[in-house]
Amino acid sequence: MLAAMKLEGRVAIVTGAASGIGAASARLFAAEGARLALVDLDEKGLGRVAADIEGRSGQAITVAADVSSGSQAREGVARVMATWGRVDVLLTAAGVSLGGTVDSLDEATWDKTFAVNVKGTYLWVHHAIQPMIAAGSGAIVTVGSQLAQSSLGKNAAYVASKGAIASFTKTIAVDHARQGIRVNALMPGVIDTPMPARSLQRQADPEAARAFWKQRHPMGRIGQPEEVAKAALFLASDDSSFVTGTLLFADGGWTAH
Ligand code: NAD
Repeated sequence: MLAAMKLEGRVAIVTGAASGIGAASARLFAAEGARLALVDLDEKGLGRVAADIEGRSGQAITVAADVSSGSQAREGVARVMATWGRVDVLLTAAGVSLGGTVDSLDEATWDKTFAVNVKGTYLWVHHAIQPMIAAGSGAIVTVGSQLAQSSLGKNAAYVASKGAIASFTKTIAVDHARQGIRVNALMPGVIDTPMPARSLQRQADPEAARAFWKQRHPMGRIGQPEEVAKAALFLASDDSSFVTGTLLFADGGWTAH
């Protein structure tokens, strides 16, 4: 007997869907039967992911938006509702990591990091949770980072923003549990996407830094976006029906020591 698809008939919004963890999760959600709304600043990347999904008989719309814009979040969710009339899953994977220690970190870098990572998460949850409340069900997956618990330093605004996302996730899970909405955070370790590749370019010795990252994970390697996507699918689907307000570390053991 064929296994049932885990997101059959559901509608999922994924921010940061043009690249990395968001793109891998969107592809997996579509393979599991979801219709996808792909949100990102990068229109070309969105087009590629939508074409992949449609090439495998899935359904996707693209929403070119800056997640830190309230009006774009409101209009994006309205478009999803006009297209499919429901929102079952929200994954907020859009994010930036800009580096820096607090003594040299300028105000613009702090504000940009919090605008995209924290405000962008708040805005998309704020708008997407309305139809979930009306329907009495929904699954929200935010994206923190292993660094919120065990920082390597030199990325003060980013690490603070990921701690904020973890706390935000827990408190909104409490507020909306009785409305049938589960809210959980994914906490990835270092994952092979363009984000850490850009961080490596800021290092004096990128090869040495990459080797250090690998061995810093007890598993001795960095992760792949598809491995995080499987954890996202768990949190987005009924497989995690009694799981809310949790931080799921997909980090190769980074935070275990
Ligand atoms: P990525 O750079 O491959 O993807 C991030 C996406 O977010 C990009 O497509 C980018 O265009 C989009 N984005 C950035 N700013 C945006 C904005 N203002 N509006 C809309 N879209 C915007 O990075 P990734 O590694 O896939 O990161 C996804 C999430 O995972 C991020 O929140 C990141 O902090 C988190 N994370 C990544 C790692 C890692 O090692 N890759 C580790 C822990 C957490």
